[in-house]
Amino acid sequence: MPAVLKKIKRYLPSAHEARIQRAYAFAKEAHAGQKRMDGSDYITHPLEVTSILADLHVDEDTLIASLLHDVSEDTLYTQEDIEKRFGKTVGFLVEGVTKLSKVKYRDNMAERQIESLKKFFLHSARDFRILLIKLADRVHNMSTLEFVRPDKQYRIAKETMEIYVPIANLLGLWALKTTLENLSFRYLYPGEYDTLHALVQQTEPMRQKLLKDTLNRVKRELKKQQVHAELEARPKSFYSLFKKMADPSHPIQDLNELLSIRLIVQDRATCYQALGILHTLFKPKSGRFKDYIAVPKANGYQSLHTTVFGMEGTLTEFQIRTREMHLESEYGIAAHYFNSHGNEATPWSRFQKDLKKKSAWVQEVLELQKELKNNSDFLENLKVDVLQDRIFVFTPHGDVIDLPEGANGIDFAYHIHSDVGDHAIGITRNGQPVALHMPLKTGDTAKVMISKTQHFPPRDWLDKARTNLTRNKIKQSLKRQNAEESVQSGLLYFNKIMSPYGTTDASLSAAQRKSLAAQFETESWSDFLEKLGRGAFDEDQLIESLHQKVEVLGTPYRTNGEHESAMSKIPYRNNGGRLLIPNQLHSTCFYRIHLLIECKDRVGLLRDIGIEFANLGVNIYQITVENSDEGELTRILLLIEVMDYPQLRRVFEALEAIEGIVSFKRLPHEAPAASSADRKGTSSGRS
Ligand code: MN
Repeated sequence: MPAVLKKIKRYLPSAHEARIQRAYAFAKEAHAGQKRMDGSDYITHPLEVTSILADLHVDEDTLIASLLHDVSEDTLYTQEDIEKRFGKTVGFLVEGVTKLSKVKYRDNMAERQIESLKKFFLHSARDFRILLIKLADRVHNMSTLEFVRPDKQYRIAKETMEIYVPIANLLGLWALKTTLENLSFRYLYPGEYDTLHALVQQTEPMRQKLLKDTLNRVKRELKKQQVHAELEARPKSFYSLFKKMADPSHPIQDLNELLSIRLIVQDRATCYQALGILHTLFKPKSGRFKDYIAVPKANGYQSLHTTVFGMEGTLTEFQIRTREMHLESEYGIAAHYFNSHGNEATPWSRFQKDLKKKSAWVQEVLELQKELKNNSDFLENLKVDVLQDRIFVFTPHGDVIDLPEGANGIDFAYHIHSDVGDHAIGITRNGQPVALHMPLKTGDTAKVMISKTQHFPPRDWLDKARTNLTRNKIKQSLKRQNAEESVQSGLLYFNKIMSPYGTTDASLSAAQRKSLAAQFETESWSDFLEKLGRGAFDEDQLIESLHQKVEVLGTPYRTNGEHESAMSKIPYRNNGGRLLIPNQLHSTCFYRIHLLIECKDRVGLLRDIGIEFANLGVNIYQITVENSDEGELTRILLLIEVMDYPQLRRVFEALEAIEGIVSFKRLPHEAPAASSADRKGTSSGRS
């Protein structure tokens, strides 16, 4: 307790020490004998949660409720006991936190359910402070997650990322949001986390030395110029590093820029004075200075940012801001809420006047807070701004269909109605026909084209749908097919998946079919197709059952040494949505694949192919276009570089969506560029 109490006293001198001590003693007694997963006494948990909240400068009742937040749920004492001892507000806050603990999250929840859970969460918290306690509780639970059973770790991390991170984001609690993201990242993407961790670790000793030298150098100069500033090194956020690497437009060399320092000064004028001193000490990198004080970001963020060539030429980023700007950027609404009507009350009228000068989002969240008390459906109105990972697509009648980012026409159709999905044969986006599996964007108007003769969705939609809701609906529809329809659907699917690899059902011998059916533990070839048509088995299993990896992908090239390629620098996602990062630690394999595309030539076709490949992070190593005689299809031979199957398959998916392409297939490795003599060939090198 002493450490936390000291922290509290520092920002809240008026706090009643005895009352806080009494709450601590009560919680300790109530939880006596209970242990945390890591073996420590239970009381360490509420204590840590309270310490996190103290960083947010919360009021006294919130601190007390935080100390007691697990009492009525986990001990013999009730909410009335708490209310009797610590008053109505504390009782109310503890009750709110306990209620929220009963909100159930399941591992396989659909996006819609997650949305309603988030809403429920916000609705049932009748006071902003309940959410704060709940978030701090989650931060501490996440930081001790290593002691929890491994199968539970993943579920809890997923819940954190899906429910708690968006809520922290909504409230502008950036510090909590970043902490929760980083803690979840470790359990959701252990491989990527380890890779990044190792990468950062490698340069750590050097980084620490540079950091120390830089801090000393800057401090000395500030002192000489009589500028008072607090300096802190900003730790790297692994999750934001991970996201940067996932963004192909982000230059990889920027990731080496590992020094980041924050200066907190007393007022606005000093911000600029400190900037001047830094720019005299170190040469600024051009184009990297941002004045978010004069022109705040849309979310109200204020700071000066500059990147300089620091000690030994290391790129070093500085953020300069006042204490007030700092609190707001780290703690969002909490900074306003407690500075205004916390214990250290700012008169309400002054706070409101201040608010007028603040950014729009603060007012929005405050409005939200008010409406939350009126229990109205506040979130509907704020959805667009708040839940940024959603897209909103209009129907021709102007209805809004709310989908997760990355959703496509298939999802759109099924989110309107299962019937619309089942009969969909195409879609127009803003009047232009596009492939059903192309992603939609916020603001698009989409119109589904339906056919009365299509009764069931094609089997490959199961692979192409982006939301769980869609996938479940497709599965249900596929299951309604009769045996014959299922066989037909399975057959179409089989040929579609396998033909780019040069296999069709017709090319298989009776013996091959039989062995394939046996591999999938089905009775016969038609039984296999029937199950396939009903939604069993996946693409990966199918391809791997017939083609050895070496046969499809060929001999791997390594990105170190002589086979250095553009691929060695491009992070990409594999099938499970996991990010794989080729890096300096491990050499990475890539494969060169020959593709033959037959198409009706048109203006812009090559450009469209190029754009799709670039979006997928796939390098085109060589391209040959064989001009066609009149009435014939144009043949394009590509030599591309891919990292694995799933990426190759996404190449196929992309090609499928390009207008004018009639067919495409992978050519055997031993037969590159087979050009017939009577055709003119044009060729260029690396594109
Ligand atoms: Mn707890």
